[in-house]
Amino acid sequence: MLIVQKYGGTSVGTLERIENVAKRVAKTRAQGNDVVVVVSAMSGETNKLIEYAKHFSPTPSRRDMDLLLSSGERVTSALLSIALNEMGYPTVAMTGRQAGIVTDEAHTTARIEKIDPKPIENAVKEGKIVVVAGFQGITKDGKVTTLGRGGSDLTAVAIAGALGAGRCEIYSDVDGVYTTDPRIEPRAKKLEKISYDEMLELASLGAKVLQNRSVELAKKLGVIIEAKSSFNENPGTIITKEEDIMEKPLVSGIALDKNQARVSLRGVKDRPGIAAELFKALAGENINVDMIVQTIGHDGKTNLDFTVPQSELERAKQVMEQFKEDYESVDYDSNIAKVSIVGVGMKSHSGVASKAFETLAQENINIMMISTSEIKISMIIDEKYSELAVRALHRAYELDK
Ligand code: ADP
Ligand code: ASP
Ligand code: MG
Repeated sequence: MLIVQKYGGTSVGTLERIENVAKRVAKTRAQGNDVVVVVSAMSGETNKLIEYAKHFSPTPSRRDMDLLLSSGERVTSALLSIALNEMGYPTVAMTGRQAGIVTDEAHTTARIEKIDPKPIENAVKEGKIVVVAGFQGITKDGKVTTLGRGGSDLTAVAIAGALGAGRCEIYSDVDGVYTTDPRIEPRAKKLEKISYDEMLELASLGAKVLQNRSVELAKKLGVIIEAKSSFNENPGTIITKEEDIMEKPLVSGIALDKNQARVSLRGVKDRPGIAAELFKALAGENINVDMIVQTIGHDGKTNLDFTVPQSELERAKQVMEQFKEDYESVDYDSNIAKVSIVGVGMKSHSGVASKAFETLAQENINIMMISTSEIKISMIIDEKYSELAVRALHRAYELDK
């Protein structure tokens, strides 16, 4: 069988750990499988490179950032290849470009447009273990791009899809997807299976165990993911079609996202088209706006609040500057967090939202913004209450049972 294995930052965080990964890959190979390995940068490396860039500029060019950040994954792919080689396994290490990964032009959040499977396929046919640098690709005209934070997961799923691999195993420091981040709530329970849609919501809402876009692509291509730990042999969590899951709990999990920032505009000129212009300008800068709340206007003025990823706040400030004639004041707040409740069971049950509001009220936690969809409820709260909120909600929906 052809197996794609992805090892994240912590799994390759030290030379000893790379050695450990090499042993795991070798074992899979020795069992008669063809193996394609995707690796992340050593843990902390990408953040370190971002800090280096910030030393020179608060808003470095996205193209330069891509060249910079793609280097972390190149280091680990080459090192793992060298380690495997030394153990007697023929290997080939590849960058995104060498692995045939073509993306669009959206620097730092590029989408994979196509993968030419031949370079990897040919190497596999020659009996080699292929080690691909995750998180990166190349535009049609040869510019290096990266796929957004956590993007090595996306590389792995895309390659598994392109090669028709039997399995896509994603290894990190947790042995699966839990009802909430086990670092916040030790009583969190591991899920045996979870549907693509629920996993997509959890991942989009902050559960970084899998990158959201990788889950979206897995659903589209029908790639079954298994999330496992590289530090033990425990069975992981299978991410698959909703039809393949028998037990459908009301609420599957709680997610927390602390990487959000709020932009609050006061006294915005209440005229048709203002929101369109503002959000178009943000979109033009590739800034992903999440929650939006506009309050009813008075005297031709209205208030507009929205959230953006913290990493985009500096760019968002620049955009707001361009509109300064259109509002009286603006205020930014990075000390917020988004807590979300996810479950397909919500589609057919009422009272899930009110229970969430009650639970936070009992803990004296003020809710600043709310948004809901068929299978999720998200609330923006003061960051300092995040962990408390997660634990209280986890208990309220009896996820520890
Ligand atoms: P990697 O660096 O290998 O990609 P990540 O750090 O991106 O790994 O993802 C693993 C981390 O995700 C875990 O250490 C855990 O703290 C966090 N996490 C957040 N939510 C969940 C969840 N619901 N289930 C499991 N892990 C979660
Ligand atoms: N190294 C990148 C990051 O930290 C990509 C990844 O780890 O998947 O976001
Ligand atoms: Mg990750």
